[in-house]
Amino acid sequence: MALIVQKYGGTSVGTIERIQAVAERVIATRDRGNQVVVVVSAMSGETNRLIGLANQIDKKLSTREMDVLVSTGEQVTIALLTMALHAKGADARSYTGAQIKMLTDNIHGKARIKDIECDNMQNDLAAGNIIIVAGFQGVDHDGNITTLGRGGSDTTAVAIAAALKAHECQIYTDVDGVYTTDPRVEPRARKLDRITFEEMLEMASLGSKVLQIRSVEFAGKYNVPLRVLSSFEEGEGIGTLITTEEDEMEQAVISGIAFNRDEAQLTISGVPDQPGIASQILGSITEANIEIDMIVQNVGEDGTTDFTFTVHRNDYPQAIELLENTGKKLGAKKVKGNDSIVKISIVGVGMRSHAGIASSMFAALAREGINILMISTSEIKISVVVDEKYLELGVRTLHSEFGLEQKTA
Ligand code: ADP
Ligand code: ASP
Ligand code: MG
Repeated sequence: MALIVQKYGGTSVGTIERIQAVAERVIATRDRGNQVVVVVSAMSGETNRLIGLANQIDKKLSTREMDVLVSTGEQVTIALLTMALHAKGADARSYTGAQIKMLTDNIHGKARIKDIECDNMQNDLAAGNIIIVAGFQGVDHDGNITTLGRGGSDTTAVAIAAALKAHECQIYTDVDGVYTTDPRVEPRARKLDRITFEEMLEMASLGSKVLQIRSVEFAGKYNVPLRVLSSFEEGEGIGTLITTEEDEMEQAVISGIAFNRDEAQLTISGVPDQPGIASQILGSITEANIEIDMIVQNVGEDGTTDFTFTVHRNDYPQAIELLENTGKKLGAKKVKGNDSIVKISIVGVGMRSHAGIASSMFAALAREGINILMISTSEIKISVVVDEKYLELGVRTLHSEFGLEQKTA
């Protein structure tokens, strides 16, 4: 008997009809002779609605209470799905994160999973139950409710699949797999049958929200077979398999284009060009738990240098305030910021063995008059920061430049 973990995202459980359809699919999976653990998200829009309510009270909220609030969305859907399963005659039990002892660290809003107690789930599975677990939430060592960051139900599912040594972790969503880029931005995007963990990790970390980055990290680390599928399609479907088997993959140089609308850029200029300056500039930002993404330091002139970096847009107001204070301390000439930028990235393991990809990318963007504000590269990706008004044009231009809509021979 195989054990399958299935995760259903917000739109897949967005209405009672959708929840009924999920129940049917879960029962069909069980009827094929599998044990099934299901992880669900909150109904679509619910997490945002809850955040909106809190923001009406105050902008600077206790992160502990925020987690108490936003974790409620998933408690609703576990109960409703379990009831739908009961109504269809299936044995099922729901669990919150705390009930399965999804132990995390205590960083509210972006907690990391440390351990999962499997006994309850294993006993229930052995007794013939389908198990329904609330995604996105956990509990810290002191019993406080924590959440895993936006899109965190993906990570809940993969972590459970790893802990229970599941046969496969299936992420059901509103698209039928991972595409060469977000099909909402480029309708000519092509579905990939397979993608490597390495590429998926880059795509996710560069902004492709189809999978939360930590879920891909987890799946790669614990070798969990991971598949993205549509909950809206009839039948089983093959979706996209995230795999380590590179040789079986289509040999495209670029496999996908990711973008991130949630970035903001900060620049501090005219600071002393001396050892330790980078850590002084970024120190207060990292102490505030703000993640820094791209960093560029210019070559110093007349003993001073400029330093530019990007952070999440939500962190921008706090980051610019901190940087202004640092600027005063260091006697910087200027501190400025821009929160209407986006990052577009091309990703592909084939880049390792192909030269000239960067220059084709820059030339294609230049032909469309798109000015590049920052560049960063790694072995399998090239990212550029551009004005947000160029997002769609930039993505489509690069999609066609690298022939992503065509099948490679
Ligand atoms: P869920 O609520 O099921 O977790 P998400 O909205 O988090 O769903 O993720 C699915 C969405 O991810 C799709 O609707 C699509 O717009 C977006 N997306 C972004 N990049 C990609 C990509 N490369 N392939 C497929 N979908 C993508
Ligand atoms: N409900 C949470 C969110 O909207 C978690 C998830 O959907 O994965 O981010
Ligand atoms: Mg998601």
